[in-house]
Amino acid sequence: MTNHAIHFEQVSKSYGSFDVVENFELSVQPGEFLVLLGPSGCGKSTILKMVSGIEAPSSGEIHVNGKMVNYTLPRNRDVAMVFQNYALYPHKSVFENIAYPLLTRRASRPSKAETEQRVREAADIVEITSQLDKYPDALSGGQRQRVALARAIVRDPAVFLMDEPLSNLDAQLRDTMRQQLIALHRRLGKATIYVTHDQLEAMTMASRIVVMNEGKVQQSGTPEEVFQRPANLFVAGFIGHPRMNFLTAHSAGGNSVQVGKVTLRTQADAGPAGRPLTIGLRPTDGQYDRAEGNAISGRIIQSEFTGADAIQTLDFGGPSLLRIRKQGHRKDEIGTDATVTFHPKDIHLFDENGARI
Ligand code: ADP
Ligand code: MG
Repeated sequence: MTNHAIHFEQVSKSYGSFDVVENFELSVQPGEFLVLLGPSGCGKSTILKMVSGIEAPSSGEIHVNGKMVNYTLPRNRDVAMVFQNYALYPHKSVFENIAYPLLTRRASRPSKAETEQRVREAADIVEITSQLDKYPDALSGGQRQRVALARAIVRDPAVFLMDEPLSNLDAQLRDTMRQQLIALHRRLGKATIYVTHDQLEAMTMASRIVVMNEGKVQQSGTPEEVFQRPANLFVAGFIGHPRMNFLTAHSAGGNSVQVGKVTLRTQADAGPAGRPLTIGLRPTDGQYDRAEGNAISGRIIQSEFTGADAIQTLDFGGPSLLRIRKQGHRKDEIGTDATVTFHPKDIHLFDENGARI
């Protein structure tokens, strides 16, 4: 395990009898942008804190650049963390905030001139150079986030740890910062663990996504893999917007499943007839007005206009309603009959335990 930027070996963390993280295993490669994705409270921040040294694991080992760091002081770990709330010092100027990690070094503390140069370089990268004399309370949220990023960059760490760095920004700025963070990562090429509960951030930024729930890894894969082949019901429901439809079904033998009165052909083998299943259908996979595929007919009972398209709710007499994205929108479609088709490959099957079939 010499070449991993970060390596977790059976890492667990509990507070009293509460297991926050259970047997977390992961290797992050140099240059990789890994996103830890999961709902609030699933243990994401705890994992980052254990890498940076703010928290100690209850068991297991953490390695940074091939070196076990469980007993290494935070400032001697080759990592820099960016927090959601920026954590800037209010009584220090922007310059002093960025310089802080260099000034507090015990060993290899740079000279005044070098410190000045490195602060300016870091400030340049995040385009905050004109604000160096200001104090944090005179900055906007976006500018504060840039200062926090510059403070991480100035350390020139082997690894960046980012804990929901964009969640305090408004939607438009978040879009811009997302693109800038990707560009920054390309430029610096450092391994990064980026934590978020926002699937859009994960899908757009990650080279690999690790989906977590309740302290456990649910799936690890590229954005395409976790979207196209979600490993279980949790991942299937967490990734994708609008949310995947889940319908109670059973196997009709082989490649057929029965959902209410409708029989659907699937690509995966549904197992022996009668086996209870859940099927997943993405609203974005349903096609109106197409002859081939599995047809589901029903009545449109609701249509929510979203701009470019509409989210329609179809009552097909099945165990639950079906939501379908439709391009274009007409209010007078409510109450009319419609048929949508799904390609067999777009019918996701899950067994009684919620695992993908
Ligand atoms: P996330 O970042 O995914 O939202 P956290 O890692 O912050 O989740 O927290 C995971 C769980 O651990 C939460 O239920 C939280 O309440 C609990 N937790 C975090 N820190 C402590 C602590 N110091 N003592 C007790 N419980 C904690
Ligand atoms: Mg958190």
